[in-house]
Amino acid sequence: PDGVRLQKVLAAAGLGSRRACENLIAAGRVQVDGQTVRELGVRVDPATAVVHVDGMRLQLDSTKLTLALNKPAGVVSTMEDPHGRPTLADYVGDGPRLFHVGRLDAETEGLILLTNDGELANHLMHPSYEVLKTYLATVEGRVPKGLVHRLKEGVELEDGPVRVHSFTVKETTPGASLVEVVLHEGRKHIVRRLLAEVGHPVTRLVRTRIGPITLGGLRPGQTREITGPELRKLM
Ligand code: URA
Repeated sequence: PDGVRLQKVLAAAGLGSRRACENLIAAGRVQVDGQTVRELGVRVDPATAVVHVDGMRLQLDSTKLTLALNKPAGVVSTMEDPHGRPTLADYVGDGPRLFHVGRLDAETEGLILLTNDGELANHLMHPSYEVLKTYLATVEGRVPKGLVHRLKEGVELEDGPVRVHSFTVKETTPGASLVEVVLHEGRKHIVRRLLAEVGHPVTRLVRTRIGPITLGGLRPGQTREITGPELRKLM
């Protein structure tokens, strides 16, 4: 059959999971070419269809684009900043409008994904998918090897416990250490809060990996497109 199922088109435009988009259709909130559609079997051509949800015209980008960015320190994880600080939008150039998948603190560097594929973004941010994220942290003080056990058992933070997937001490001196932390978590400032809680405040934090995607040779401020097999591994 020609076209793409309407719920898939809505999900790709970032309106939520396919299931949530089916509910939007069933609730009579979606119009295609001026007609309200309530049945779920309808297919549309994303290149030509005019789709409204709650009266708002949807941007149906038929060209999917996913970028990996090495976010420099000092850049806020938004596409627009009312205070005029540098944002992610300064690094993605022209082309389709992208949205970022999750956030890094302004002072955190490293890998962040940007996409116009709403389904991919939903999938990656869904708690049950639990994509592993890897961080390299420079911390204060000498980190004892045994800390890994405590971090794996779980550390109590004010908004609940956090448990790491793995923890490796890469370098350590009396004054500072370099550690690698791998965890599923997405809570705000989680790595900084965790390491401060165990007595090793973070002085520099770099995200090096999200699931199958690594920072690779990207220098701060550089992007590369995620395509083909790498993209399929993300889904
Ligand atoms: N944990 C943090 O503390 N900061 C980040 O930016 C990401 C994870």
